Amino acid sequence: MKIGSHVSNNGTKMLIGSVEEAISYNANCLMVYLGAPQNTFRKPIEKQNAKEAIALAHKNGISSDDIIVHAPYIVNLAQMDDEKFNFAIHFIAQEVEGVDQIGARYLVLHPGAHMGNGPKVGVERIAEGINKILELTKNCQTVIVIELMAGKGTECGKTFEEVKGIIEEVNDKSRIGVCLDTCHIHDGGYDIVNHYEDVIEKFEQVIGLKYLKVIHINDSKNVCGAHKDRHENIGFGNIGFETICKVCNDSRFMNIPKILETPYVNVDKNVSFPPYKYEIAMIKSGIFDPDLIDKIKMI
Ligand code: FE
Ligand code: FE
Ligand code: ZN
Repeated sequence: MKIGSHVSNNGTKMLIGSVEEAISYNANCLMVYLGAPQNTFRKPIEKQNAKEAIALAHKNGISSDDIIVHAPYIVNLAQMDDEKFNFAIHFIAQEVEGVDQIGARYLVLHPGAHMGNGPKVGVERIAEGINKILELTKNCQTVIVIELMAGKGTECGKTFEEVKGIIEEVNDKSRIGVCLDTCHIHDGGYDIVNHYEDVIEKFEQVIGLKYLKVIHINDSKNVCGAHKDRHENIGFGNIGFETICKVCNDSRFMNIPKILETPYVNVDKNVSFPPYKYEIAMIKSGIFDPDLIDKIKMI
């Protein structure tokens, strides 16, 4: 099972620390930001300690393609304002180059919000942006992986059709992929709890499973179709342990990195712990522990 989590990337260790953190969770894949997700300030790539980090990853059975990068979520490619649109294009192009330079392959991207212009206009603008980004980074192998969204506010990419609409317009299909986030598609109205096979079948028919490159594994605090996007710890939400295990053990997804983005467990106001080591072990065991969160609080 290829499973890991979101890990931090900071301090002086940078990516070395990220890989060490993943190893401490017994993970065999991981996801990082190359800088703070809420701003566009970036340390030079040389400061990421990428070479040492990749060597450490390889030594521990983590391949370069299983080190996923998430693009910051503050830039909006569905932007109609030309100046902001161009800023977003150049910033994401820089991230695409960063991914290539550190030796990774996949950059997960939230497609963008149409801000009232409608999903059709948004989808077209996003595809236009991605084409420009790919054009600017012709020498990179980085694949832009569009994340399926919950449909909060005016988010684009909340249906398989919208994501398909983006992919159809992208010229270089070898550099575009899709990230399925279990919480997002559940909140988006795809009932993976009661109709798992139908949903996966629909993904295959509309988008094509060949485009699926990353899976985000999250339970959800909300009901199916709520369009809310609030992640919950595995087994403690409305998706539930059984369905999460179905996704993680699906033979079709064997080689796809599955990344946990579940919330840290709060012990008190100032202290919280990452649940990933325990959630990974629980998913691998296939047995739900209803006391898991309480146990993490005691550690
Ligand atoms: Fe995301
Ligand atoms: Fe996600
Ligand atoms: Zn989310």
